[in-house]
Amino acid sequence: MTLRASEFYQPDRAGPFDVIEDVPERAMVVCAHPDDAEIGTGATVARWVAQGCEVVYVVCTDGGGGSNDDEMTSDGIVPVRGKEQSEAARVLGVKHVIMLGHPDGGLEDDRVFRGEIVRAIRTYRPDTVFCHDPHRINGFQHRDHRMTGTVTADAIYPYARDHLHFPEQLKDGLQPHKVRRLLFWGADHPDVIVDVSGGYVETQIEALSKHASQVFGLNDESSDRPRFGERLRERSRRAAQGSDFDQGETFRQLIARA
Ligand SMILES: [Zn+2]
Repeated sequence: MTLRASEFYQPDRAGPFDVIEDVPERAMVVCAHPDDAEIGTGATVARWVAQGCEVVYVVCTDGGGGSNDDEMTSDGIVPVRGKEQSEAARVLGVKHVIMLGHPDGGLEDDRVFRGEIVRAIRTYRPDTVFCHDPHRINGFQHRDHRMTGTVTADAIYPYARDHLHFPEQLKDGLQPHKVRRLLFWGADHPDVIVDVSGGYVETQIEALSKHASQVFGLNDESSDRPRFGERLRERSRRAAQGSDFDQGETFRQLIARA
C-alpha cells in the first residue's frame, strides 16, 4: 500500500478563522490567577461590554504564588493581587468579580472546585464562557490553568445543566443552566476569532497594566523585560491576518447541542 499525500496533510490553522459576530447578553470568564483573564480575553471582553454584554469573572486562586520579589511573601502579595484584579476588571467594565480564593498552585479536579464553578454558572447564567484551554500540548502550561479548563468544561456539561448534579444548590433556589458556547483561549488550534479592532486592545493593555505586581515592561520604562503591550498588539494583528479587520482575538470553540 502506498501512502497518499493526504495522510500527511496538516490543516493550515493560521486562519482566516470563523468570525464570531453575535454578542451575548451574559458571559463569564473563568481563570486560574489574577491577570489571566486580561491576557486571554481582555480585548473581547472590552468589546462585548461596550456592546451591552454583562460579564462576570470567576478567579479561582488568590495569586499567592505570583511574585518575582524575593522579599515578598504569599500573605503580602494576595491582597495586592486581589486589588489589582478589581481595578483591571473595572477598566474592562466587568460587572462582578468572584474570587474563589484557592491557594495558588493548589487547584484540584475535585467535587468542591467543580461545585463552585457549577454554582457560579447557575447563579449568573452565562450564554458564553471563556476559559483556559486544558488540552494545549504546545509548550508548558501552569497546572492551575489545566485544572481550571478541565473543571470548567465539566461544570458546563453535564454538571450545571443537569438537575441531578449538585441538587443541594437547587434547594438554595438556583436552577440548572445550559451554557451555549465555551471559548478556550491559549489553544493550539483556535478556530474562531472576534474582531477587536477599534481600540479594544488598548483597553486590554490598560487593564493588564493594573496588575503592576506582575506585568513588567508596561509600567517600568527602564525595564528590559518584554513589553507586554507590544506583544498583545502584535498577537492581535497576527491573529487577524487574512481577515477584513486589523486586530482579533482567537479561541477554540465548543457549541452545546440544541
Ligand atoms: Zn495563570
